[in-house]
Amino acid sequence: MAERAHEHYDVLIAGAGPAGLAAARTAASHGARVCLIDAQVQPGGQVWRHDIASPLPRAARRVIDSLSNRIDFLAQTQVLMAQERSLLVDGPQGARRLSYGALVLATGARELLLPFPGWTLPGVTGAGGAQALAKQGWPMTGKRVLVAGSGPLLLAAAATLRAHGARVLGILEQASQGAVLGFAASLVRWPGKAAQALALRARLLGIPYRTGTLVRAALGEDRLRTVEIEGPRGVERIECDHLAVGYGLVPNVELAQLLGCQLLRTGAHAQVAVDESLRTSVEHVYAAGEVCGIGGRDTALIEGEMAGHHAVGASVAAAALQSHRRHARAFAERLRQSFALRPRVHALAVEETLICRCEDVPLSALQGFTSLREAKLATRCGMGACQGRICGTALAELGVFPTGGHDDDGRRPPLFPIRLATLAESFSIDSQGVHS
Ligand SMILES: Cc1cc2nc3c(=O)[nH]c(=O)nc-3n(C[C@H](O)[C@H](O)[C@H](O)COP(=O)(O)OP(=O)(O)OC[C@H]3O[C@@H](n4cnc5c(N)ncnc54)[C@H](O)[C@@H]3O)c2cc1C
Repeated sequence: MAERAHEHYDVLIAGAGPAGLAAARTAASHGARVCLIDAQVQPGGQVWRHDIASPLPRAARRVIDSLSNRIDFLAQTQVLMAQERSLLVDGPQGARRLSYGALVLATGARELLLPFPGWTLPGVTGAGGAQALAKQGWPMTGKRVLVAGSGPLLLAAAATLRAHGARVLGILEQASQGAVLGFAASLVRWPGKAAQALALRARLLGIPYRTGTLVRAALGEDRLRTVEIEGPRGVERIECDHLAVGYGLVPNVELAQLLGCQLLRTGAHAQVAVDESLRTSVEHVYAAGEVCGIGGRDTALIEGEMAGHHAVGASVAAAALQSHRRHARAFAERLRQSFALRPRVHALAVEETLICRCEDVPLSALQGFTSLREAKLATRCGMGACQGRICGTALAELGVFPTGGHDDDGRRPPLFPIRLATLAESFSIDSQGVHS
């Protein structure tokens, strides 16, 4: 593809996970000119992140290989700003403006990381974070790893870590035994999921899975040495080299917010509100996959395909998938109920616990503010490199502020910290012509 600073596409898709990939190949199958962008090096999103030690699963290969020459894939490319029917993006080729006939938001989800004493020690990461590190080659061989938090991602992370040579000492699930057994029994409605769960359990044979158990503290001077846990057996200490702890997923709604799309709150977190046709509240903008609510890979694939049809006006083809979508979303709802966080999880951080790790802001510094916005102005909480993606989300979950933890006054551009050179480039782009 010739590198141009301003390009027009029939369909532009942000995010190349299962939802974005399915949307791209579907829209292209109708003859549309499609562009797919992703911040990662390769397409696949979170679940199909490339693993240096093993080939991609067949299902992933099938979807990725089906990307045709009608699709431009822009890797390592971030969306920075949104304007009328166009996005300003920054990637290896510099800043570019991409205008579109229709935009599909498929920006997925990130891990919910919650603060507890010691969570910033070297050797402590998210569960999905540890999985991603292992897949990218971070040495795990022989390391004693404890996996903790909540939800099925713990099993997937533990299986990956074991495959990379880690000694997984145990999986600690905060949900009660009753909740987990109830969830397992309900899988008869989703035989594909039941098969996936059984296959995962087989890969985890011999690893203790303890319910109703959570991490109270990570201990060590310079790095993690010991983990303190609590559960039905009381408080225990376990020596380990790595703690991988994650409390489920939250949708990446920041780009949708920037575009002015209406959000829907489910508990402490927001997802993009869509109608039956996956239309957002902003004209010509659709959304699919986990950005519309945590739903797993199958939901993302179905919604991506539907959004790809809708984006080119093929609504009859999309309607045929509606019942599959409802069935897949019902699974998501079951998942959400089964792994709801217990109040104890919200009470682990103490006064000295750092909440904003980018700007070193402890919990004690956030007392007395009524909103994240107020706290941000006074303490710099949420003003670091992650732009509040970790601490803002955690604060919303913990319910620290009476008004909730979110910046409900919308997102201001840029979405990510930006180089001054990129900003300068963006001004000159607008004076150039559009190519299509
Ligand atoms: C860390 C992690 C690990 C996971 N591991 C597993 C697993 O092992 N097994 C499993 O079944 N499920 C796993 N999941 C859940 C899985 O991600 C989802 O079920 C499914 O992949 C959702 O697909 P999606 O296309 O909606 O989003 P995702 O797969 O999350 O893809 C979204 C993509 O959008 C890109 N993106 C987001 N914002 C921007 C932006 N502003 N600019 C450019 N690109 C952007 C991201 O880089 C990402 O590639 C994991 C989730 C996470 C967060």
